[in-house]
Amino acid sequence: MSKINYKSIEEIELIRESSLLVSKTLGEIAKVIGPGVKTIELNKLAETFIRDNGGVPAFLNYHGFPYSLCISLNDQVVHGFPGQRMLVDGDLVSVDCGVVLNKYVGDSAYTFAIGEVSDTVKTLMRVTMECLDLGVAKAVAGMRIGDIGYAVQEHAEKHGFGVVKELVGHGVGLQLHEKPEVPNYGKRGSGIKLEEGMVIAIEPMINAGKARVKFWDDGWTVSTVDAKPSAHYEHTVAIKKGKPEILSTFSYVDNVLKEKVKS
Ligand code: MG
Ligand code: MG
Repeated sequence: MSKINYKSIEEIELIRESSLLVSKTLGEIAKVIGPGVKTIELNKLAETFIRDNGGVPAFLNYHGFPYSLCISLNDQVVHGFPGQRMLVDGDLVSVDCGVVLNKYVGDSAYTFAIGEVSDTVKTLMRVTMECLDLGVAKAVAGMRIGDIGYAVQEHAEKHGFGVVKELVGHGVGLQLHEKPEVPNYGKRGSGIKLEEGMVIAIEPMINAGKARVKFWDDGWTVSTVDAKPSAHYEHTVAIKKGKPEILSTFSYVDNVLKEKVKS
């Protein structure tokens, strides 16, 4: 954990495979997520799908985490437990998924709206997605970690939203969490220099209200202190030929959600 593991082209391709399975798993979640579904059912679906495709859920047993997905509802930010709670209209559901395939990890998260959500939540989702895109655009060789954080923070705060500081993005590779840390806040031109072969998970966690979060007694769940909703999107990104290459994709989720709107 002490140094950055720079990846070869071959390793980046392996991480792409893992990230693709994560992305497909989120696509499977998109097919079934909706009112009346228990979050534990989504966990089961994900675990089965990952294993059927030759992977292993990266979160299961990670430092004792007991599930294959992190499912964080409404005011929960990240690391929520799937359970018997049935989803209802108006819920905001962050689904975070990690896969180990051929020893390499992929990591991605998507936040789903269940039925009709409030205008504030719609804006929160849009802005958090934009924060992710802006952060990814800064994953360029020669820039610094602080450039990513600055881009995310500036955009979120411009809209009056709170940027979670206690949890950060991270390097990805043979381990789920490698160096460097990738905060969603920072100063331009500060921090570790971004270089060819780095693979990082960029994952803005943005709160509708205050930035502060609290940590639950279950040892995992993180929620907002003011009980306002929080959104979370994440991509695994490689720096290749000096530029960001997104190894995960939301295309599977997007295609499913487009079809759902039509039907
Ligand atoms: Mg994740
Ligand atoms: Mg992550």
